[in-house]
Amino acid sequence: MALIELIGVARHYQHGDIDVPALDGINLSIEAGEYVAIVGQSGSGKSTLMNVLGCLDNPTHGSFHIGGQDASQLGADELAALRRERFGFIFQRYHLLPHLDARGNAALPAVYAGLGNNARSKRAEALLTRLGLAERLHHRPNALSGGQQQRVSIARALMNGGQIILADEPTGALDSASGAEMLRLLGELNQKGHTIILVTHDPSVAANARRVIELKDGRVLKDSGTPAGHSLPADAPAELAGTEQSSGLRRLQVQWREAILTAWLALRGNRLRTALSMLGISIGIASVVSILALTDAARGSIEKDVRGFLSGRIPVWRGNSNLPPGAVARSFRPSELDAIRALPGVKAVNVVREMELTARHRARDVGVTAVGADAQSLAARKLKLVEGRYFNELDQVSRTQTVVIDGKARKALFKPGQPALGQTLLLSPMAAAGPATAEVPGQPAAAGAALPMTVIGVVEPDGGGISLNFSGGQVLLPLSTFTRKLDPRLDTDSFNVMLDFSLPPAQVREQVIHRLKALHGVEDFDSWNADEEFQKIQNVTAAMAALFAGVGAIALLVGGVGVMNIMLVSVSERTREIGIRMAVGARQSDVRLQFLIEAVVLCCLGGLVGVALSWLGAQGINAVQAKLEVRVSWTALAVAFAVSSAVGLLFGTLPARRAAALSPVDALARE
Ligand code: ADP
Ligand code: MG
Repeated sequence: MALIELIGVARHYQHGDIDVPALDGINLSIEAGEYVAIVGQSGSGKSTLMNVLGCLDNPTHGSFHIGGQDASQLGADELAALRRERFGFIFQRYHLLPHLDARGNAALPAVYAGLGNNARSKRAEALLTRLGLAERLHHRPNALSGGQQQRVSIARALMNGGQIILADEPTGALDSASGAEMLRLLGELNQKGHTIILVTHDPSVAANARRVIELKDGRVLKDSGTPAGHSLPADAPAELAGTEQSSGLRRLQVQWREAILTAWLALRGNRLRTALSMLGISIGIASVVSILALTDAARGSIEKDVRGFLSGRIPVWRGNSNLPPGAVARSFRPSELDAIRALPGVKAVNVVREMELTARHRARDVGVTAVGADAQSLAARKLKLVEGRYFNELDQVSRTQTVVIDGKARKALFKPGQPALGQTLLLSPMAAAGPATAEVPGQPAAAGAALPMTVIGVVEPDGGGISLNFSGGQVLLPLSTFTRKLDPRLDTDSFNVMLDFSLPPAQVREQVIHRLKALHGVEDFDSWNADEEFQKIQNVTAAMAALFAGVGAIALLVGGVGVMNIMLVSVSERTREIGIRMAVGARQSDVRLQFLIEAVVLCCLGGLVGVALSWLGAQGINAVQAKLEVRVSWTALAVAFAVSSAVGLLFGTLPARRAAALSPVDALARE
């Protein structure tokens, strides 16, 4: 069977209701190694025939065989494979890709054959050098003359072998010298065994061929037939060895590389547009990342400063603002504390031994909170020893008159640089200043007399947390000293319910209130649940975060639609490029991949800018305040990347599908 065999091939165009038969029952048989010119008047169907021959267009009727394979029965990908493996196209207007240099254009068909980058470049360079373009490898088409561009397109046609070279008016746009050179090259290729099919309206050009087929109104008017004595090429021409079949994996790798590179070039070629379409994505990602960073920082600061300190306990104290005037709030008795201890969810009840006192050093008087401290107090109050020592066993047993003061008290009582250790403080009840204590009977101990105390240590809040102490500072003394010298009562004015978290804190608190109320007869006490409060704060924070995340999501959505829009524009602008890629053998999946990757790259770039923006924002926030340290985490970066890619995939799908669905011949015809 002949290399090309057409039996009753027809191609009809539909102009509204009118049926235009561009080809009408063509019977043709072309042998391997022939040099055929197709001639005829304008509109006679030459180009249509050429497109059908090159598998760029499907005939409406008839059967059509290439190398024994019935091409009219093939699917889009199989046709792409035929184009890739057998055909080389040379177009009147060259159809080179403007953003690729000569070498890149020549090498293009091998991308879709899966030839590796190096092998591709080497082969393209060799072909271009043979065609006299060794000095022009890195020139873009607009820096090349018409003749040079047409030679680049010859190199491209030969890249994958080019067993059959289809040239539609190849000299039409060239000056006579370049045209003559073109014809010489075609003749040479035919000598080497390539089958050449040339479309021309010019008889002198047709004279170069060894067989002339004349068309008229879509029918063969004259056909000189395969020349007598035509001999099939002895062997495949050298160029046919061009492509080694490469593995699917390798092909995929080559395709991805090319797609990413193309995406990058396309985006770079339209900088302003790229930047603008990235904007929506950037804003969306920036808000999402900022929210993540901010809520993280806020939560971190709550946990660090307050939560760890207060959580796990419910402070209960004597007195309640709802008590009727004149009513006296009772202290808590040991038996009452035992009752609380027995409640479910309660790990322990810690009595707080504190009282407000005046501390004096030399002429300085400061109101301080005196705290009865045991071995656990440093840890419980999140304090760190910075000077001197803490109480030991002996201090507790022998009730030494020693104190450990906090930094605030140190600052209030001592001049900067003045040593505190070894100094004596005089502690005296606040009551000494006025009659305010009259209503609290049985408050004996230090009444009147000032208690001399030796400073043995200084503590600071651990981890720079906020101080919940509004007095002039804290003064810790051994618990034994406290009960002996300051407050010997067994009753207490306040205590902490320590939670074991087997029940929700709010529920424990309710039970405590219920039990104490039963014991006291009235609610003459108050309590506070840190975990409940933090839960409230966190609910508010979460609601805010959700709100901002919603704004971010909307921005992302709008950004995504923007990207889709710009990609659709891009597809219609680059229709001819898509046609060229399809003509040299790109599958629909290759085209789809290319535009999808472009959308994803665009979105990821937008995402990156968004992350950068939020990073800058975080630096700004950190620079103007010290309370909250905002950091953009790697997690945020990963999330941004994942989200951007997802948006790209989602909104790139429609444009990519649209690009892939184009028919090669329509795409090529588009200007
Ligand atoms: P030639 O290349 O010989 O000048 P063509 O093959 O381009 O002729 O066109 C043959 C006929 O088909 C013409 O009448 C033309 O108007 C018609 N034709 C070609 N392409 C299309 C198309 N895409 N849609 C409709 N009609 C077309
Ligand atoms: Mg034409």
